[in-house]
Amino acid sequence: MNYDLIVAGGGISGVNAAIAAAREKRKVLVIECSGFLGGSAVNCLVNPFMRYWSKNESGQNTAVNGGLFLQILDRLEEKGGLLENKVTFNEEILKIVLDELTEEYHIDVLFHSYLVGVGTENERITEIRVANKSGVETYRADYFIDATGDGDLAYLAGCPYHVGRKEDECCQPMTMCFRLSNVDVETFHKNREKILALYQQYQREGKITNPRENILTFEHIEKGVVHFNSTRIVRKNPLNARELSAAEQEARKQVFELYSFLKKHADGFQNSNLIMSAPQIGVRESRMIEGMYEITAEDIMQCRKFEDSVSRGAYGIDIHNPDGSGTVQYHIDDHDFYTIPYRAMVNRLYSNFLVTGRCISSTHEAQSAYRIIPICSNLGEAAGMAVSLALQEQLKVGEIDINRLHRLMDNYHCLY
Ligand SMILES: Cc1cc2nc3c(=O)[nH]c(=O)nc-3n(C[C@H](O)[C@H](O)[C@H](O)COP(=O)(O)OP(=O)(O)OC[C@H]3O[C@@H](n4cnc5c(N)ncnc54)[C@H](O)[C@@H]3O)c2cc1C
Repeated sequence: MNYDLIVAGGGISGVNAAIAAAREKRKVLVIECSGFLGGSAVNCLVNPFMRYWSKNESGQNTAVNGGLFLQILDRLEEKGGLLENKVTFNEEILKIVLDELTEEYHIDVLFHSYLVGVGTENERITEIRVANKSGVETYRADYFIDATGDGDLAYLAGCPYHVGRKEDECCQPMTMCFRLSNVDVETFHKNREKILALYQQYQREGKITNPRENILTFEHIEKGVVHFNSTRIVRKNPLNARELSAAEQEARKQVFELYSFLKKHADGFQNSNLIMSAPQIGVRESRMIEGMYEITAEDIMQCRKFEDSVSRGAYGIDIHNPDGSGTVQYHIDDHDFYTIPYRAMVNRLYSNFLVTGRCISSTHEAQSAYRIIPICSNLGEAAGMAVSLALQEQLKVGEIDINRLHRLMDNYHCLY
């Protein structure tokens, strides 16, 4: 069977790309190496949705990320999978919502299928190969989208890319998120400063090996459960299988170290239990695939409004130190937003291929801002619509009329 579009990677950007093309009646296949959709938001227990709003003229928060992202929020809420704060979500419900959506739009989803090869002819990608329980299978399509987060499809097709920061290719640290239950949350918050001071003292004394400067926690949908985004694995390459494996094990040591420290020394944690660490360590950054435009820190900080914008963003620069302690942050003006140009998803080598999600064309610094779930959702949705337009007239993805893309995005309440 020949698909109109194959999307590699079923994270938030890949699912949205698939839905956006399928709702225009395109025949779409998503291949995904895990057994569910949602990517990091599920697999790496990433939570909550980072800032997706800015203030309007009357000072009220209004969404800057629209389209499918807001539809997914509504569905999460309908099913009791979203807290009143509208950012903390239940990833179990997210899995179900994404299954429902892909079923409604008749999208073929192939789980447990790892992308291992790509076929190309001239300036077109023609097929992909995936390894799964059935063996090595080949799937063909007219257009392809890489939503693997790591740019695996682009890499296998020989596309130019860079990794991490320019000077030494170091990426932001990897983090394994985890959760503790049975916490007296009020007592914890009252004693935060005292707990932090002891944590830092233990770091200085070498009793805590985690280099993160503080303990980063978030609210969880379940009362008495605290979500931790606080382990930090530095100077390991997420694209090297051995280093990635070592990172998983080192991160689990950090999980247990922090849990043990809190249980023993922190008010509110005496009766706590380690109920879950993420099935997979979270990779913030790896390959960024060279596109027709490279997004820079200046674009983000100056809140540039591109004519070919496909998403807005209100989340600022947020670089967890690739070397150890510290986090560099630059906040976006509360009333403003930046935009992401379509050209950052358009590939230089292949005319029927887009890259979306966290691995589009940008610098290390800029990536630290747009990599969040709401923006990756928008990028995926725009990529799916762009392919649909290209298919209609058999155009190269770089040749589509941006005004037509914007009109199509208007139909689905996308913001750009
Ligand atoms: C530790 C950490 C904390 C974060 N905190 C937040 C936060 O609080 N809020 C927020 O909004 N964002 C946060 N982010 C960022 C955000 O989670 C991700 O950048 C975003 O979800 C990326 O979406 P994506 O669809 O581009 O990629 P992903 O979610 O990574 O999806 C890629 C998908 O492709 C699949 N895949 C990869 N390679 C292959 C292959 N070869 N074959 C088949 N399938 C493949 C993967 O299994 C995955 O499902 C955080 C990220 C990390 C790592």
